[in-house]
Amino acid sequence: MQCSARVASNGAILLGCNVAADGAAKRPLRVVTHAHQDHTRGLARSVKESLFIVATNYTFEVMDVLGLKVPVEKRMPLSYGQPFHFDGETITLVKARHIIGSAQVVVESRKGYYGYTGDFKMPGTKPLQGLDVLVIDATYGSPRLQRRWGEWDAIAALMEIIERFIGEGPVWIYGYHGKLQEVMAELRVRGISYEFLAEPVTVELARIASRFYGVDVEPLRVYTGGVVKDPVVVFVHMSRKKHYRRLPGIHVVLTGWELRAPAVLAGKRLINVSFSDHASFKEIIEYVDAARPRKVVVDATRGKDAWFTAKYIERILGIPAEAQPRDRESGNKEDADR
Ligand SMILES: [Zn+2]
Repeated sequence: MQCSARVASNGAILLGCNVAADGAAKRPLRVVTHAHQDHTRGLARSVKESLFIVATNYTFEVMDVLGLKVPVEKRMPLSYGQPFHFDGETITLVKARHIIGSAQVVVESRKGYYGYTGDFKMPGTKPLQGLDVLVIDATYGSPRLQRRWGEWDAIAALMEIIERFIGEGPVWIYGYHGKLQEVMAELRVRGISYEFLAEPVTVELARIASRFYGVDVEPLRVYTGGVVKDPVVVFVHMSRKKHYRRLPGIHVVLTGWELRAPAVLAGKRLINVSFSDHASFKEIIEYVDAARPRKVVVDATRGKDAWFTAKYIERILGIPAEAQPRDRESGNKEDADR
């Protein structure tokens, strides 16, 4: 039990004997799958208590921009697929499609073979196969949270909004770190060439994303506040929406929790676009079906309806499954990372 795979009550994912991922625990290795706030909790404690903080180089870069401090001597940057041998265990980061630098984690030891998806979306995340225990994120853990369209429909809706309204002033787009930069790249790939404006941190992250995705996001300029008159797209972190919402232009909120349609009018000059960085319920099940582990643990500290995901996996796929920790039925993803 001690050296298997489980979810601790603080949301740390314990893998093998040495790894705690995305939460603090008294273990020598702390893995950060990506730099979202609900996955970097307890980092200061881990810096003190753990020997190494393990993450991709891109995730370290993002943490630096966000002010999440990890001293150089504690850093263990790993490329995707690069094994790290520690105390009889091998730790490997595998690409996850979510935000810049996101990774799944695999721990192999004599006792077993364990994996954790971290946050992910499909397609674009390769299911980890042959595991004894798979710990899976289930942000949208039941059919009541199922989106009925693909992310491409949401991007198409966003492009239509930009083209239709940009003549009347700027288009403001609100979202979380990582998602904003991914959407910048998606828009550039699809030929949206209007100038992008963003606050300094968002610009810095966009320059990192540009390398990560291999997409040129320029022209991109720092926005320092105030009314914007030009036909530009302004990208703003969700937490700053209240500062800009009343300024002239069309305001667009990127939120995977909009389940009614790809784009929905949500107020005066306010549109929700249903763009998510997480697998839908159906995609979670597809992942598990392709991965076929011997046992599944559903993380109940971050997603919603983890208990249902576990029950469904057990009954429909015939794989033993449980939501953990057992005293928690659902987390609070909605507030942390949409
Ligand atoms: Zn995330």
